[in-house]
Amino acid sequence: MFDAMIYRGNGIVAIATINKGNKKTGQVVGLTIAPESTWQEMQAFKGGSLARGAAYTRSVKPQIETVCGSCPFIATGKCYVQHNAQTASQPAANLARAIETCEGFDADAWRLTLTLAKRYRIDRVRSAVAGDLAALPADVALAILEIAKRRGFRMLGYTHEAQAVHLQSTHMLSVHSEAEARRAIALGWRVFLVGDPLATRVPAGFMICPSSDESIALRGRGLPCHACGACDGARRDDDRRSSVFVVRHGGGDSSRKRAAKKRNGNVAIEVLSASRRVVG
Ligand code: SF4
Repeated sequence: MFDAMIYRGNGIVAIATINKGNKKTGQVVGLTIAPESTWQEMQAFKGGSLARGAAYTRSVKPQIETVCGSCPFIATGKCYVQHNAQTASQPAANLARAIETCEGFDADAWRLTLTLAKRYRIDRVRSAVAGDLAALPADVALAILEIAKRRGFRMLGYTHEAQAVHLQSTHMLSVHSEAEARRAIALGWRVFLVGDPLATRVPAGFMICPSSDESIALRGRGLPCHACGACDGARRDDDRRSSVFVVRHGGGDSSRKRAAKKRNGNVAIEVLSASRRVVG
């Protein structure tokens, strides 16, 4: 376990963490982008993991736009990290353990983190455990990405900011409708489309996230992110790889699914090929 503050400025901190990761991501270097005042509160917090997660969500709430930009989950309150004390206990712990501080971008702390990660055979950076890398100045974000790339790391990156084109080659644009997805793809993004929890079809030209419950139900096995690696942006203008589709799992979605299953039988996903033939 290792945590380092790699950026502090404009009231925001970025913390890099090496830990076991979770079942979905596997082992990665995780970036946590948070308000500086939340970092200070987590440093001072005395209490258990769940209570710290709850304190984190309360602290982030009034200033969430500073780190999550225009994410639509801010308004709906359905972010599985920023609105859920249990999940928030992970970024809260990352902030609590990052004791050393810095001013601006600390390239040495970032290099040290990556060097240590290599010793554990970790070669992916998750952006982000919480928050959005687009909240950092573009030159800082690009320096973080360039150092990681030079050291052989690949990204698992997600942003909600379509205007953050400097992240296009490393991050997926998170979108919430097929129309939004098609517009973003036309602008050069690969996208991570978070679909309705009751969706029964994967849009043509998309792959279903192999670590999702729906994919596991379809194929009988799953793949963690570090082994899949599909969410690393659009490598070049002519990157023809599929974008990714996943069914939303936010607050209340599981009960909606259970209710629909009771009403209609199984809520199953069908995978369509480009010719709209059912292939899975
Ligand atoms: S598509 Fe692959 S990399 Fe992206 S979230 Fe799913 S498992 Fe992870």
